[in-house]
Amino acid sequence: MITVKNEESTLAVDWSDGATSRFHSVWLRDNCRCEACGEPSIGRRTLRLSGIDLEVTISAAEALQDGDSEIVRIRWSDDHRGEFDGAWLRDNAYDTESRRKRAYRPELWTDQLREHPPSADYDEVMENDSAFCDFLETIHRHGLCFVEGSPAEPGTGANLARKIGFLQESNYGLVQDLIADRRHRSIGNDFHALKPHTDEPYRASPPGIMLFHCVETDENGLGASTFMDGFEIAETLRADDPEGFDALARYNQGFRRHFDGDIDLICEFPVISVDEFGHVCGVRINDRVASPACIDPESVPVYYRGMKRFLQLAEDDGRMIQKVLRPGDIAAFDNHRILHGRTELRFQGRRWLQWMQVERGDFYSTLRILSDRLGRHRNTLPLLRGAYGSSDCRKEEAEA
Ligand SMILES: [Zn+2]
Repeated sequence: MITVKNEESTLAVDWSDGATSRFHSVWLRDNCRCEACGEPSIGRRTLRLSGIDLEVTISAAEALQDGDSEIVRIRWSDDHRGEFDGAWLRDNAYDTESRRKRAYRPELWTDQLREHPPSADYDEVMENDSAFCDFLETIHRHGLCFVEGSPAEPGTGANLARKIGFLQESNYGLVQDLIADRRHRSIGNDFHALKPHTDEPYRASPPGIMLFHCVETDENGLGASTFMDGFEIAETLRADDPEGFDALARYNQGFRRHFDGDIDLICEFPVISVDEFGHVCGVRINDRVASPACIDPESVPVYYRGMKRFLQLAEDDGRMIQKVLRPGDIAAFDNHRILHGRTELRFQGRRWLQWMQVERGDFYSTLRILSDRLGRHRNTLPLLRGAYGSSDCRKEEAEA
């Protein structure tokens, strides 16, 4: 049984396990879930903060049992009354310990995972909700899942992508054909190895979930796709060189891609994004499109040291999954976490991959809805973060 103590400007809640959380009166008033204040189950609010006195206090509070659930009943100094579900309060408690517990801690890749890369069967994923949910959870947990046994026909990857969410269009189109053909000489016909990188870090929002579908290859040809866990190499950098890691999480790296014509994409984001507790939540790493970094002059040497080490780690064969994609194979991965590249292509005929992308918000929406439908726990799903910058550095600065 939970107990509450009215401290006027805050409410102290003692949970049944002995922990205590405090909620500010104004926070509670702002999050009131009564019918007059909105319909929070679908995210609709009729309550407006502009109508709330920031100095509002709690006049009375009590915790009581209501069937299987516990509720907290509150009356505020503005005479408004509301009720909170105890479990909801616990899920949304914002004391440091509760936030830390909820913070997403990714499982890093291990040698075992590299030896047995996560994979799924195409027909199962397409036809069975449970297998599809497993596939999405695998991408969520490990950043990557291969799908095997799909028809080696153009459009197949897009069918799977559309099941995950909406296809994202860019200047490359909705579906991009990557064709390397020995029989034709053309620009774009590139056979060289590509170092592992994340795609399009020069965008304000880089591609989220990316899918490569192999339509055609020379069966005897060589040339493997490579994948790496960007979070694993970031953590390795942190262990090797904590100052270098901090510099990459703190300062913004410029990225630019200028295409002939009328496209000029430029942005600045940290190479490593961390949450308020320092957990890595996104990486942008692509040496080919780097432009000047904005760094405090004193930190230039340590930034470059960290950057070079990070790029070296991204070339470490021992941390890669190498996989020759065969016709019908799909690689699906989170581009805010996973680096991809390829070894040199050695074959006579043609290699044809199709690639497409789905926004990460849509991916997590599908995973949540499906988890609910299948009765799986969705509490372990993180709020969307990604390679959009760091929050703990700002906190440090605010404290300084
Ligand atoms: Zn209300």
